[in-house]
Amino acid sequence: MPPVPKRKISKGRRDRRRSHHALTVPTWTYCPKCKEPVLPYHACLNCGTYRGRKVAESAEEREKRKEKKS
Ligand SMILES: [Zn+2]
Repeated sequence: MPPVPKRKISKGRRDRRRSHHALTVPTWTYCPKCKEPVLPYHACLNCGTYRGRKVAESAEEREKRKEKKS
């Protein structure tokens, strides 16, 4: 027989453990340039800008780069 709990966990103890299990709805904003939904403090994945400045490749540029490779 495998190791098993000696006692049943009471409803109160079980529910206290689960008091931290609630899920939260993620917050997001919209890109000022392309109006796509963006996570706060993240560069836009669609156009590659952060606070109006270009910091990464846009989705279009990524797509082009992939085509070149293959
Ligand atoms: Zn954008």
